Amino acid sequence: MGDMTDVLVVGGGIIGLTAASRLRQRGANVTIWTADDVRDTVSSVAAAVWYPSHVDEDPRVLRWAAEAYREFVRQASAGVPGVMLRRTRMVMRTAPDVVPWWVAGAGDASLADGEVHFTAPLVEMETYLPWLRQGLIDDGVRIERRRVSSLSPALAAAPLVVNATGLAAGELCGDPAVFAARGHVVITDNPGLDVSVRDEDNPAGLTYVHPRSHDVVLGGTYEVGQWSLEPDPAEVTAILRRCAALEPRLAGVRVRGSKVGLRPGRRGGPRVEAAGRVIHAYGHGGAGMTLSWGCADEIAGLASSGTING
Ligand SMILES: Cc1cc2nc3c(=O)[nH]c(=O)nc-3n(C[C@H](O)[C@H](O)[C@H](O)COP(=O)(O)OP(=O)(O)OC[C@H]3O[C@@H](n4cnc5c(N)ncnc54)[C@H](O)[C@@H]3O)c2cc1C
Repeated sequence: MGDMTDVLVVGGGIIGLTAASRLRQRGANVTIWTADDVRDTVSSVAAAVWYPSHVDEDPRVLRWAAEAYREFVRQASAGVPGVMLRRTRMVMRTAPDVVPWWVAGAGDASLADGEVHFTAPLVEMETYLPWLRQGLIDDGVRIERRRVSSLSPALAAAPLVVNATGLAAGELCGDPAVFAARGHVVITDNPGLDVSVRDEDNPAGLTYVHPRSHDVVLGGTYEVGQWSLEPDPAEVTAILRRCAALEPRLAGVRVRGSKVGLRPGRRGGPRVEAAGRVIHAYGHGGAGMTLSWGCADEIAGLASSGTING
C-alpha cells in the first residue's frame, strides 16, 4: 500500500464499497483491504431489496434508509447496472391499519386491504457490486486482498480506518452483540412476475418473492445463531411451497439454484460510530443494502470532521 492513504477501509462488501465511494467523492485517498473477492461476500448473496428487515425502529436507521432509498432511485433513473425499482405488496399480518415506521423512508406508500403498497429499489448484486468496485478502481481507490486478524495492521498503515467487516467485526473488535442470522434464498425462472410480494410475519416462515430482470429470488429464512453455509433441500422445498401459496404463478417453476449467507446481526442495531482512529460500520443484519448509502454518508461525515481535514 502506498503511503498516501488517508482512509483504509477494511471490508469490501456493500458497506465498505459505498463508504469508500463517499470518502473518495470528498477527496480522500482511499485503500480497501478485503479478505474475499466481492462475489464471495454476504452482500453478494443478498436479495438486495430495499426494506429495513429485522431492524428496530430508530431515527438513525430511518435516516439511513431514506437516504439510501433516494440514492437508489437516482441510480435507477441514471441507468446504473443492476439497479431497478419494483412495485411491492407487503402483507401486514399484525396491526393491518397502522402505517409502519419505515414507510416514512419509502417514497409514496399507501395502505390498502391489509397491505402496504410501495415502490422498492432492488439491486442485482452480481452486477452492481463489480460495477461499484470497478468504479472505485477507476477513481483511484486501491483494492487489496488481505485478511487481518486484528485492526492493528490497518491502524499502522493509515491515519483513519473504517471497520466494515460485517459479521467478522464481532471477533475483530470483541463485540459480543454481533450474531449470525442465516439466510437462504432460492433462485427460479421468472414466470412473468413484475411485482415484489412480502409476507414477513407468515407463521409458516419468512416469505418473499422478488422478480428481477431474468429470474425471481424467493425467500427465505432468518436463523439466529446458525452458521451452516450448506443449502438444505428441505428448506428449498418449504420456501417454494410458501412462495407458491403467496404467488400461485410460481407453482412448479423451474429452480435455478439456491444461496445461503450469514447476515451480520447486532443486538442494539448497526454500529456506525467513531472510536479513536476507527470508524466502526458493521452489524447491518438483514438491511445492509437498505441502509448502505445512508451509512456511507454518515461515515464520510465522521471522517471529514476528523483526520481527512485535520
Ligand atoms: C439471504 C440474504 C438475503 C438478504 N436480503 C437483503 C435484502 O433484501 N435487503 C438488504 O438490505 N439486505 C439484505 N441482506 C443483508 C445484507 O446482505 C447484509 O446486511 C450486507 O451484505 C452486509 O454488508 P457488509 O458489507 O457489512 O458485510 P459483507 O458483505 O459480509 O462484507 C464484509 C467484508 O469484510 C471483509 N472481511 C471480513 N473479515 C475480514 C478480515 N478479517 N480481514 C479483512 N477483511 C475482512 C470481507 O471479505 C468482506 O469484504 C440479506 C442477507 C442474506 C444472507
